[in-house]
Amino acid sequence: MVSEKLSQTDSISQIATLPKLDYDLVIVGGGIAGTALACSLKNSGLKVALIESQSKSVVAARKLAYNLSLMSGRILDGIGVWQQILPKITTYRQISLSDGNYPRTVQFYPEDLATTGKKPTLTEGLGYVGEHQVMLTAMQEFLADCSEVTWLSPAEVLQVNYQSDFVEVELRRKDTDKDTNNLSGESETLTVRSRLVVAADGAKSRIREAAGIGTHGWKYWQSCVAMTIKTEKSHNNIAFERFWPSGPMGVLPLPGNRCQVVWTAPHREAQALQELDAKEFLAKLEYRTAGLLGKLDLLSDRYVFPVQLMQSDHYTQHRLALIGDAAHCCHPVGGQGLNMGIRDVAAIAEVIKTAHQQGEDIGDIGVLRRYESWRRKENLVILGVTDFLDRMFSGTLLPVVAIRRLGLWGMGVVPLFKSLSLRVMTGLFGRHPRLAQMLSVK
Ligand SMILES: Cc1cc2nc3c(=O)[nH]c(=O)nc-3n(C[C@H](O)[C@H](O)[C@H](O)COP(=O)(O)OP(=O)(O)OC[C@H]3O[C@@H](n4cnc5c(N)ncnc54)[C@H](O)[C@@H]3O)c2cc1C
Repeated sequence: MVSEKLSQTDSISQIATLPKLDYDLVIVGGGIAGTALACSLKNSGLKVALIESQSKSVVAARKLAYNLSLMSGRILDGIGVWQQILPKITTYRQISLSDGNYPRTVQFYPEDLATTGKKPTLTEGLGYVGEHQVMLTAMQEFLADCSEVTWLSPAEVLQVNYQSDFVEVELRRKDTDKDTNNLSGESETLTVRSRLVVAADGAKSRIREAAGIGTHGWKYWQSCVAMTIKTEKSHNNIAFERFWPSGPMGVLPLPGNRCQVVWTAPHREAQALQELDAKEFLAKLEYRTAGLLGKLDLLSDRYVFPVQLMQSDHYTQHRLALIGDAAHCCHPVGGQGLNMGIRDVAAIAEVIKTAHQQGEDIGDIGVLRRYESWRRKENLVILGVTDFLDRMFSGTLLPVVAIRRLGLWGMGVVPLFKSLSLRVMTGLFGRHPRLAQMLSVK
């Protein structure tokens, strides 16, 4: 069990007895947020340990694909890993929004961003759809030759002891069989010391809980059913978001006439959709996609995920920072959760690299607050927008229906309204991190 012991002992006597640190920072969680942070610190001069409870291949095998914003693409490009990811994912050049089968749809194209003065480059389109496995494997390979990053996986954090000048992480490392990659049953307990712990251990973060950081938010009345499908007709690199009274449904284009579907519905309906006979399920899906993609086939199981909105009361405390889902979670409408996490990565990497260059202590709360004040408010905007979209587009009350159809009409005909919505969707609003300004994709 992870527990926190924050000592109040005199810092001067600690400096005198401070043992040599093993790492400058320890990242807990080797999902996309944690691994992207390790990648962004490559060649920074900082020594990093990345602790992940599952083996590298297991953590990369998650069957999910993500809408990636233009901003996420730019950040991953700045990190140096984008050229390994881009050829294996889809770049979409059109977004289509519709209110169920209501005939008026809103189409977004790259030129619609023009009025904001933030034109995407020719190859960028409006965003990307990337599979978890493609992205995480590319990041793991990017770190393979990096002597400053040590993978401690599979390894479980047992305890974190926060001291005023350093932090001690006690962990149990599990051995795996070299040939089969299965756990051998052997394990060793290690203690590592560093200046800073970054919790990237997901929505149920034990590091956050043990540190006593509370959260606010709510669980939605809906769950998501996610799956990969094969389509008869080409998806033409269009990302669809179709709003239905039961909840929004996103259809994201993947390479090779495949799509990722994220179908939101009240819990019972979502469960029933998962259990429905495949033929009946596909008939429902063909109706919901209005035949635009032709005959459909299932390429994966149907996975059900609960949906919640969550914001941590703080993203930082002395020697601790939260990033990604450990800090916040949102409704999957619009596909923003991971994109927020990637922005967190760029922001904290910028803050700690600058602090390190200036000789500051990267785990000091004064340094970490720069990250928190940058990211917490920006994430709140996205939490608000996704919540608003879900509530506004899930209802059947006549005034609500009238307002949302008016809103869709406004988005279609008022260029400023359209480009502002697009700036939020593409991640081009808010403060741009330095990593996003090093475009190599032209
Ligand atoms: C159906 C669905 C569709 C989605 N679609 C999109 C989308 O289109 N676009 C988008 O941007 N977002 C999307 N999201 C959100 C996205 O999946 C998450 O925001 C993202 O995966 C969070 O990444 P993370 O690295 O912060 O956390 P996680 O992916 O949860 O990774 C946490 C890691 O920490 C490890 N860990 C946990 N505890 C410990 C411990 N004690 N010690 C060591 N390791 C530990 C775990 O094994 C895991 O590997 C979607 C979510 C769902 C459910």
